[in-house]
Amino acid sequence: MSVQTIEGLRESVQGEVIGPSDRTYDEARKVFNAMIDRRPAFVVRCSGTADVIAAVNFARENELDIAVRGGGHSVPGFGTADDALVIDLSGMRDVQVDPERRTANAQGGATWGIFNDATHAHGLATTGGVVSTTGVGGLTLGGGIGYLARGHGLSCDNLVSAEVVTADGRALTASEQENDDLFWALRGGGGNFGVVTSFEFRLHPVKDVYGGPLFFDVKDAGHVLRAYREFIVDAPEQFGGFPAWQIAPPLPFIPKERHGETMLAFVACWAGPIEDGEKALKPLRDAAPVVAEHVGAMPYPALNSAFDALYPPGGLQHYWKANFVKELTDDAIDAHLEHGPRVPVVNSTVHIYPVNGACNRVASDATAFAYRDATFATVIAGMWPDPAENDANIAWVRDYYDATAPLSEEGGYINFMSGDDQDRIRSNYRGNYDRLVEVKRTYDPDNLFHLNQNIRP
Ligand SMILES: Cc1cc2nc3c(=O)[nH]c(=O)nc-3n(C[C@H](O)[C@H](O)[C@H](O)COP(=O)(O)OP(=O)(O)OC[C@H]3O[C@@H](n4cnc5c(N)ncnc54)[C@H](O)[C@@H]3O)c2cc1C
Repeated sequence: MSVQTIEGLRESVQGEVIGPSDRTYDEARKVFNAMIDRRPAFVVRCSGTADVIAAVNFARENELDIAVRGGGHSVPGFGTADDALVIDLSGMRDVQVDPERRTANAQGGATWGIFNDATHAHGLATTGGVVSTTGVGGLTLGGGIGYLARGHGLSCDNLVSAEVVTADGRALTASEQENDDLFWALRGGGGNFGVVTSFEFRLHPVKDVYGGPLFFDVKDAGHVLRAYREFIVDAPEQFGGFPAWQIAPPLPFIPKERHGETMLAFVACWAGPIEDGEKALKPLRDAAPVVAEHVGAMPYPALNSAFDALYPPGGLQHYWKANFVKELTDDAIDAHLEHGPRVPVVNSTVHIYPVNGACNRVASDATAFAYRDATFATVIAGMWPDPAENDANIAWVRDYYDATAPLSEEGGYINFMSGDDQDRIRSNYRGNYDRLVEVKRTYDPDNLFHLNQNIRP
């Protein structure tokens, strides 16, 4: 690539083009997972759709790999790569709300924190992730699991339309009315089909919620997991939340002498009338004595950012594994009880998210997200600060996974998988895989967008 060509790229975009000789290069190449240390050819900080088109065209014409980065949270580090052109959407984070229509338009690099704050101002929300720094883009394209999923479906179920820059440099609208095959594939198929510059979401009246974490003694974890398994089947759909293995952090509401002790936490979220919150959480309280809790009424965005401090950007190594689960059997609970209490560090956890309710009411072939008959999505999330501890932490995740995978479905949620899970992509999409390949052939026949959980054309 000649200097002239690079200058051409700089001139054709409004945003910054950052290369290895630039002062900001080391900062610009960083992603959330500290384990990922890549040296891209350029990072293009796009300022709008025209920049994205210019970057896609430039990469294609110069045969550069493309890495797309929204919130940067990808555990496999798909938002960067050696010698690639990184399309960095962090300069495109605007969110506009239309309270009359109950919709919101989020630019491709928006985070859930920005999104939730914007919609909360109008007493509205949609399903997003449980940490505010996660990107709307990557999360929605993989499906999108969060507190509101049982009541309002996955994030992708709330997508009304998307603006997409495809491999040939066109800007297309995808919706039920336009390019409906692309729209189908975007709802679960990940970053395979182009760069989404704007997402339009349906919103719901959710303002304040009743919830927060309850901590249980590890000896009571079996009672809590069994109570959760029973009551989540037909719990009111305004109830979301999940059990989580958690080493008790030094927080003021946890008795000092129990700091550092491994417990089973349950993070609850009741999005119905606040006065019904206590009743909604009763089945959990009845399961076992609560050791510590921080539960009450709070703005929905507050719950969505309550755990951010446990996951500092770029501060932790990440290695995750995941499975869908239809039935949490006694054997599966025994496997959790064996491996959960061995959680090695305060940042690591295992969440067993409920994905029934509204998520199950969508047909398995209505969107690319196939596991519409799952009750739970389990993630074994290894997150630790010290790279010297990589082997021990990865071993904990793998041992836990080996024990629970045979008691789970074959597939796992694509957004909770690590880079060594590429052979599980087909099983994640089940009967939808062949149609995804067809759509890939239509919109990206040369696999320009291949740094992702890749669907090969
Ligand atoms: C701390 C933490 C908490 C999480 N919590 C949840 C949760 O509650 N629920 C849940 O469902 N998932 C959760 N996840 C997983 C999350 O959904 C994935 O990591 C997702 O890929 C993050 O999206 P991102 O935009 O931040 O990541 P990025 O690394 O920026 O993007 C990941 C990939 O997504 C694609 N992509 C992103 N934006 C675009 C775009 N605009 N256009 C085209 N492709 C794009 C690209 O292929 C990109 O490489 C969490 C992850 C972390 C690290």
